[in-house]
Amino acid sequence: MKAFEFACPTKIIAGAHTLDKLPDELADRGVEHPLVMTDAGLVKLGVAAKLTDVLDAAGVAYDLFDQVPPDSSMDVVNEVARLYAERGCDGFVAIGGGSVIDTTKGAAASLACEGVDFATLQGSEILHADLPPFVAVPTTAGTGSEVTLVAVVADTHKHAKLSFTSYKLVPHAAILDPALTSSLPPKLTATTGMDALTHAIEAYTSIQKNPVSDAFAVKAIELIAQNLPRACAQGDDADARANLALASLLAGAAFSNAMVGVVHALGHSLGGLCHIPHGQAMMMLLPHCVRFNLYHGVHAGVYGELLAHLAPDRAAELGPAAMPAERDLAFCDELFALNERYHRDYGVPLKLSELGVEHNQLAAVAKQARYDGAALYNEVEITLEDALEILEATY
Ligand code: NAD
Repeated sequence: MKAFEFACPTKIIAGAHTLDKLPDELADRGVEHPLVMTDAGLVKLGVAAKLTDVLDAAGVAYDLFDQVPPDSSMDVVNEVARLYAERGCDGFVAIGGGSVIDTTKGAAASLACEGVDFATLQGSEILHADLPPFVAVPTTAGTGSEVTLVAVVADTHKHAKLSFTSYKLVPHAAILDPALTSSLPPKLTATTGMDALTHAIEAYTSIQKNPVSDAFAVKAIELIAQNLPRACAQGDDADARANLALASLLAGAAFSNAMVGVVHALGHSLGGLCHIPHGQAMMMLLPHCVRFNLYHGVHAGVYGELLAHLAPDRAAELGPAAMPAERDLAFCDELFALNERYHRDYGVPLKLSELGVEHNQLAAVAKQARYDGAALYNEVEITLEDALEILEATY
């Protein structure tokens, strides 16, 4: 067996009513005055109040920052770090999707380095200081940021999404309470769920995959295949929501160790340059990128190994005698079919042109994607022409 490392240091607290455990988690970490991070949409929907009510009932004093923008921003990260220091806070609670959790990672990292501009920590393993106590409470089931070593923050001045990776960025505890995702509308449920599916598939096919990340990825794919249609059809299906939250976490832990590939490289640059939401970008690009990898030399059978987990009926139809390449193609077909189903049932766009991307932007997107760190872990090397070919197919 090839030598490997796998780390998932976050304490995981999952299941119905687990939000009630937050005050104890804070007390265990010596936190008496946290800064609660969220976004305006979650305040309006009453999702953030579910958490602040728990703190109020337990008599925990806190400050609130509720202005995290979608995809976050470097300016906001630095503003939050200043606010935390001014108000004398001693820990973070992030309730929200990846944008809120990643903004919190950024501010916490900047404080850990005594207020340095977060931008200076861009790249891999630059950060060496421990973060202040940090509890993440995800309200989407997609990014897995509550357990990942990654923060993705937009630099709005440079029109780019910057990636930061360090084991120091992993939150200390994650609370997965299904009541917090029940308000996600079907479209967002679908796109964030497909983000988690992308993490699992890219982790499983990354050149840095290992047996533990594989096991996490496979379980995540099974849970998403079984529960995403249910959660889209009925938002308050608590069992489906709990399983999707778990799938997102497993996929996050898988890719936090194995890394991701071409879908993310292109998705980050579509986010930075064209402001396409992350899950939406992942969903649109995924089948096209899998098809690209299949036709450009990814080793035969690697996607096909996942067929029975994503689409057991299709795997059974093909039978045990099917060739690896045949399973690969069936897997890719199933991804296209999934997208078509979410497009038909919930109106999720499948083309970049539907989202206002101008055709003349594609060249810049392809160029920026080539420099994204995720491209390094894709088994097949991506040239500028390749990146453009995939974008054209998605246009
Ligand atoms: P998000 O945090 O940007 O939220 C999207 C929208 O969903 C917001 O308007 C928010 O208010 C709303 N929302 C969130 N929870 C809701 C709920 N329960 N009910 C109703 N509405 C809700 O979306 P996201 O997809 O979770 O995060 C995307 C960000 O995370 C991107 O910046 C992406 O690059 C980043 N990301 C980070 C990692 C990582 O490991 N750190 C991995 C993947 C993506």
